[in-house]
Parts: sequence; structure tokens; C-alpha cells
Amino acid sequence: MQFSDFGLDRCLMSTVEHLGFTAPTEIQQQAIPAAMQGHDLIASSKTGSGKTLAFILPAIQRLTKNRALSKKDPRVVILTPTRELAKQVFSQLRLFTANTQFKAVLILGGENFNDQVKVLEKDPHFIVATPGRLADHLSQGHFYLNGLELLILDEADRMLDLGFAKQLTQINNAADHRKRQTLLFSATLDHAQVNEFANALLKKPKRIAIGSAYTEHKDITKRFYLADNLEHKEALLQHLLTHENYQQVIIFTATRSDTERLATLLTQQQLSAVALSGELNQAQRNQIMDGFSKGHQKILVTTDLASRGLDLVNVSLVINFDMPKHTEEFIHRIGRTGRAGSQGDAIAFVGPKDWLSFKNVEGLLAQTISFEKIAGLKAKFKGLKPKKSKAKVVNTKEASIDKKTAAKAKKTTKKVFHVAQDVGDMPIIKRKKPLSAQQIENNDIDEE
Ligand code: AMP
Repeated sequence: MQFSDFGLDRCLMSTVEHLGFTAPTEIQQQAIPAAMQGHDLIASSKTGSGKTLAFILPAIQRLTKNRALSKKDPRVVILTPTRELAKQVFSQLRLFTANTQFKAVLILGGENFNDQVKVLEKDPHFIVATPGRLADHLSQGHFYLNGLELLILDEADRMLDLGFAKQLTQINNAADHRKRQTLLFSATLDHAQVNEFANALLKKPKRIAIGSAYTEHKDITKRFYLADNLEHKEALLQHLLTHENYQQVIIFTATRSDTERLATLLTQQQLSAVALSGELNQAQRNQIMDGFSKGHQKILVTTDLASRGLDLVNVSLVINFDMPKHTEEFIHRIGRTGRAGSQGDAIAFVGPKDWLSFKNVEGLLAQTISFEKIAGLKAKFKGLKPKKSKAKVVNTKEASIDKKTAAKAKKTTKKVFHVAQDVGDMPIIKRKKPLSAQQIENNDIDEE
């Protein structure tokens, strides 16, 4: 199949050709014709599979071919969970709208509110936004959605996991359902809240599932190393960074403070590294991502803030310095390499604190993982044995004597059961504490 088979507008085709894209990817092959026919879509596809163009192309095509319902209201709204992803979608959109009459704007949390009011007053055709800030502008009457023709939810699962259901519902309710088309993209369709949401928002949607977001990404080679402790991880890291071949690397750590500490350590070792953490303000984050994508540094150290959607074509190696808290983040993290068919390597360090997460990832990948070793840096840690429930050994008599022990045993039983469930079914991320509005607004989503 070729892009020319879609019957896209000449202007769109010339941009596709200019970008050097010859054949549409699988998600594009399925989603573009269905969206161009006007169907609502619920679609899953792997990270880096070309899903952005799968919704941008039919969106622009629709605007080119149809008369606007309103002169003032936006015609297309694209919502994404993070600012970084929104920016990336916006930059792809700009490539395709550059030679058209269509105006596109980017509305992000954490940026100047009044500037955004002015931008919205110019009646843009496209709005790319994070949901919290857009919902604020909507509440304050800075724009209306009566003329909305297309609502696109990118990474809907992530938006719902982050607690944006209220804002998404508000935005949805402000638009006329009869005339509107909705395209929902999610890393997984196996997500109760996404399905519930899709039932409420979409009209007779076509379901498109391209493989599974959780199946193995063939272009990414995965390696795992056991590690005893922090010092051991640092030694492994230094060894690998000086012995591996890579263009650029992203290193994922569990905490923000570790990003800074590790980047400083690597810089002291004469390696070119920079840290991206949620503590930075938006301008600083933009500057760092900009510099890294231009190749100013070889190594980016970050938390899960950069794990989703970002398209950094020169990243050929991803290192999980710490395993992620949420199993599915592993797939998003390693999806930062092996983009658009290129080869990538993913490495993970597994220490005692990472063991539970590692076992969940092993279950997710549905394979038994063996560990690599580096001479002189072998770990003493060999993995944890599954904990046996102590509940069995607590008989009634003992329990009545020692209530504390019994309570502890009960807790252990619960924990073991929980792990088994996580391995079997894909866990739906449930946060212990809901994120505060401030955290969401600041996109401080990498840590609980
Ligand atoms: P996405 O999954 O939308 O983030 O896209 C991942 C990368 O694939 C981006 O760099 C796109 O520019 C690129 N891409 C999108 N469509 C195609 C295509 N048909 N052929 C080659 N690369 C593509």
C-alpha cells in the first residue's frame, strides 16, 4: 500500500513525499481510511508506530474537504497527557499545515495563561493541548466547542490514569455530538476505564488493534543485569557507557533526585550528560529537550517524564537504571529507541528493590529472562524467592496470643496475591494517592 492510495489532498501528499515517507505504517493503513470515511475510532498501536500521522492526515483532509460548522470555533482538538507529547504532535501538525490556510495553536499547562487567551481569540482551526489547561479556558469562556468537528484523544489510557477524566468529560460535553467525529488512541485497549470512556464518547467506533502494545518490539534488543546496590549499578552504568556503541542514550531512574545526581556523576566521568526532571520549570525542560534532540548531549537522565510518545530518532540505547514502578512503563521507556523501524538496545539493572517490577515485566513479556554478566562486575544478588504466606503457620491459638503476627501474616498473603495478579492480567494503574491539581498541572507525574 502507498500513501497515494488514500486519496489525500495534493498538499498533504507533497508534505508526505517531502518527508520521505514512502509506505504507510500498519496503523496508518488501517486508521487513515476508516477516519476519512468519518468513523469514530478506538485504536491501539505500539509506541513509535506512526500513530500521530494516522490522525493528523485524516484531520487535515477533513478540514480541506468540509465546510466549517462555525467561523470562530476550533474545528479539531487534539488532547495529549503530557506537555512534551503535545509539543511533538504540534510540531508534526505544523509540518502539514504550513502550506495550508489552517492555523494551529498549542495550549499547555504551566505556560502564560493570558498569552493563551490572546492566541485563542485568533480563532485557530486546530488546538493541540493538555486537558487541564484547555478545560480551564473552556470554563472561562475563552473559546467554545459548538463547531468542533473532530476530537482526538492521544494516549487516552494515560490521560485517564492521570486523573483527567473530569476535564475530558467537560471538553466532550461542550461539543456537539451529532456532528462530531472522535478518534481515541490508547497504548492498550485492555483498560477498563478506556473502554467505559469510549462507550460514553464514541459512536459505533471501529476498533483497530495493531498487535499489542505489550508484545515484544522486534527491533529492540533487551538485556538485563543483576545489581547488588546503587554503587554496583553505577559501576555497571559506567562500564556500559564506555563499552557500548550508541548514538544517544536515555537513562531512566526512579526518583528525580537521582536524575541530577547521576547526570553530575557522568559529567564528572567526562561523559556528555544532562538531567531532565519534573522539578525544572517548563522553559528549562523545553531547553533541555531541545538541546538533547539536537544532539548537544549524548546522554539524557530522566524519570518516566520522558518515557511516553517522545520521538528522539537518535536514541539507540535505553538504560533502566531502576526498573519502573508501573509495569507498562517499561514498554514505553524502551519504545524511546527502535523508532520507526530502526534498531535499538534496551538495558535494565535489576537490584533487590527492582525485583518485583522485574518479575512483572517478565510476566508481561511472557518469557523467562536470563541475566547477562560483565566480568569483574558480577552481582552477588541472585534474585528474590517468592515469599511464602506466613498465614498458614499462624494457628488460632497463636493468633489470639499474638495478633500483631497474624496481622503481619495477613498483609504478606495479600502482597503475594497482588503480585500474582499483576503478572497474570495487565494491571490497571491505580494510584495510592490521587494526584493533586498542582501535580497534574505541572505534569509532575513521574513520582507518587
Ligand atoms: P509516532 O508513532 O507517531 O510517534 O511516529 C514515530 C516516527 O515514525 C516519527 O518520527 C514519524 O515521523 C515516523 N513516521 C511516521 N509515519 C511514517 C511512515 N509512514 N514511514 C516512515 N516513518 C514514519
